[in-house]
Amino acid sequence: MKLIYSEDHRGHAGAKEMRYDEMIPMMECPERMDVIMGALTQAGFTDVVAPNPHGLDVVHQVHDPAFVSFLQRCYPMWEAEFGPGRFATAYTFGMRGMDQVPNGSVHSMLSCYTFDVCVPFIAGTWRAINAAKDIALTGVDLMQAGERAVFSVCRPAGHHASQDLAGGYCYLNNAAIAAQAHLNGGARRVALLDIDYHHGNGTQRIFYQRSDVFFISLHCRPQDEYPFLMGYDTEVGEGAGKGYTLNLPMPRGTGYADWGPALQIALDRIRAYAPDVLVVSLGVDTFEADPVGGFTLKSPDYLDIGRRLAGLDLPTQFVMEGGYAIDALGLNVANVITGFTQAQRG
Ligand SMILES: [Zn+2]
Repeated sequence: MKLIYSEDHRGHAGAKEMRYDEMIPMMECPERMDVIMGALTQAGFTDVVAPNPHGLDVVHQVHDPAFVSFLQRCYPMWEAEFGPGRFATAYTFGMRGMDQVPNGSVHSMLSCYTFDVCVPFIAGTWRAINAAKDIALTGVDLMQAGERAVFSVCRPAGHHASQDLAGGYCYLNNAAIAAQAHLNGGARRVALLDIDYHHGNGTQRIFYQRSDVFFISLHCRPQDEYPFLMGYDTEVGEGAGKGYTLNLPMPRGTGYADWGPALQIALDRIRAYAPDVLVVSLGVDTFEADPVGGFTLKSPDYLDIGRRLAGLDLPTQFVMEGGYAIDALGLNVANVITGFTQAQRG
């Protein structure tokens, strides 16, 4: 399987995040990609392709252009005000009863276009965001040129980002952009399966009223976990999209004995939808030792996940999302891809 990867994410580093009552270095760091790429190489996946530059046309099909422009301009505006070396983050958020239109100041933009304090803007942030988008779109190009399955090794992740809100380490929604590009390229239906520990609230919102992308998410239930206000099984889509969102929330502490059957429900529903393409939002923060997650999947479970995804026998694009247990992150990701390719051959 071809891996699409670039080093352009590396400058998106050095910010801190709030954990309870202290500021800690961001869990979402460049080393994540080092261990993932290292483990993939070790597992025999050495066909690494650099992304081709793509414009913003497809991005603007799923994101508000004003939001995208904010992502580009945020750090330079912040630096002009505060000087270099600090990261930009919001002080307030556009809550109920507050104006939702930014007034030109970088603070008002951060307030309107971010929903939490986990999306810092640093000097290298836009370059990383832009490269991750290119990695997703180059994956689509390769599939249109005949590849049956590809892995877009994106950083930063994307599934928490909606049309016009960044949050949860996510800025542009790489998987949603890929799904849209598959449709542009002739696919009639795309299944977008999100197996990250956290609910893919951004992806859900982007496609909530559409039937051409079936969004399925396995995640920790909102009673227990971020983003706390979305991801209920009662959210099924609306309008033309009714029935094309499927949430499979599970309580904190869930292991593979229960997660596996939930995956089976998802796979059965995907089969019934008969998509032309499968996009997998691949997060492995479901791992038992993940410092951000709260499920108890073990490393061999990821081999099984890969095998079962291959069982759908669909053109498949993996898009990297979360996973923070640095010691096992690489192995867990490589196990999904290994299980998938072994089952493809078998
Ligand atoms: Zn996650």
